[in-house]
Amino acid sequence: MDLRLTPEERAFRDEVRAFIRDNLPTDTRERMRLGYSPRKQDTVAWQRILNKKGWAAISWPKEWGGPGWSAVQRMIFIEENQAAPAPELLSFNITMIGPVLIQFGTEAQKSRFLPRAANLDDWWCQGFSEPGAGSDLAALKTAAKREGDHYIVNGSKIWTSTAHNADWCFVLVRTNPNAAKRQEGISFLLVDMKTPGITVRPIVSIDGAHHLNEVFFDDVKVPVEMRVYEENRGWDVAKFLLGNERTGIARLGKSRERVAAAKEAARSVRFNGRPLIEDAAFRQRVVQLEVDMKALQITQYRVVSAGAKKSDGRPDPLSSVLKVKGTELLQATTELAMDTAGPLAMPIWAQELAEMANEPDMLAEAAEQATGNYLFLRAASIYGGTNEIQKNILSKAVLRL
Ligand SMILES: Cc1cc2nc3c(=O)[nH]c(=O)nc-3n(C[C@H](O)[C@H](O)[C@H](O)COP(=O)(O)OP(=O)(O)OC[C@H]3O[C@@H](n4cnc5c(N)ncnc54)[C@H](O)[C@@H]3O)c2cc1C
Repeated sequence: MDLRLTPEERAFRDEVRAFIRDNLPTDTRERMRLGYSPRKQDTVAWQRILNKKGWAAISWPKEWGGPGWSAVQRMIFIEENQAAPAPELLSFNITMIGPVLIQFGTEAQKSRFLPRAANLDDWWCQGFSEPGAGSDLAALKTAAKREGDHYIVNGSKIWTSTAHNADWCFVLVRTNPNAAKRQEGISFLLVDMKTPGITVRPIVSIDGAHHLNEVFFDDVKVPVEMRVYEENRGWDVAKFLLGNERTGIARLGKSRERVAAAKEAARSVRFNGRPLIEDAAFRQRVVQLEVDMKALQITQYRVVSAGAKKSDGRPDPLSSVLKVKGTELLQATTELAMDTAGPLAMPIWAQELAEMANEPDMLAEAAEQATGNYLFLRAASIYGGTNEIQKNILSKAVLRL
């Protein structure tokens, strides 16, 4: 990144780095260095520390607690925070519902929800996808029927990340099943997860962990004042939200951190009687990834600084490049971290093999997490809009095919 940063941006990066070094709780950093996902309490505690500093609501206007950073400063912060490694800001709160309420919410919605979202007093989740409505989101069927000053919601959502942790969910519902265009019959509701009639059922993913859920709505009563923007205009809100979702999606800091972890582990792991770090094939793989990360970093810098000069406020279709290449690299770097561990990466054997080979326990623990990370991040090319859909956007909007 040094290649293109101005002296002021470099000074800002150093300030961010120093703040994270001095304020990130040590146990959180150590767990994350071993490859564990942050626990709910780690994410809440860290976001509150950042919020106290004025660094949580990073893309919001100052009036609502934003730090007044440029797009490049936000990119630097996100990357340094990922590379630390520190828990990421909860994107449902910071990049999704916050900007939506600032753009479309009523004054009452803004003052009730924004300060709590910044401080993670409320944990939000995203109820968009349904069985049969993912890439083709406008096919969604969850229905909301107006009865007086309430909507009655019936239907179900799927792949709802962290719904089991959530206090609130922003949900797309169908309010007019007879609209001429499917997109014209959708509304955007804020739903309290404690409302009677909501059932959250876990989906355990390939890494053996519980990140995902199905959410069922059975005659759930939602007050009309919890609708954001006009009835049947929820698609405008959803499009705005999905444009923001791609911010920071390259997750380069996370890739950088995974390569650093693999290099560190490769000093202890032995291969053909020598430390793996001295193996020519391993070194070549690391160098190739580092070159690719540098190239993506420069591209990201170009896209972000060009985006900052645009005045139409619409998402740059080039951010799809960042999603595609960023997630490919995330998958390649987590694969490197797993391969570095060799047979230790097989969780059922990790502890036993480590004992037999007299490897440090920490290595076995990190190896086990590396496998989980690798397996879960196969999903990175699916969530946030699949990579195939991103390629469709690029072929239409950039290549004009
Ligand atoms: C880990 C994870 C977390 C998620 N978290 C959330 C969440 O919190 N909230 C939420 O609402 N959703 C969430 N999702 C859902 C996610 O948004 C959808 O999985 C995604 O949009 C794809 O939809 P789908 O699964 O229905 O697949 P489909 O849309 O059925 O796609 C199946 C395949 O067909 C391809 N395809 C589909 N249409 C086209 C096309 N037009 N051209 C070319 N190829 C196409 C896709 O690329 C994919 O490979 C999450 C998903 C995952 C995996």
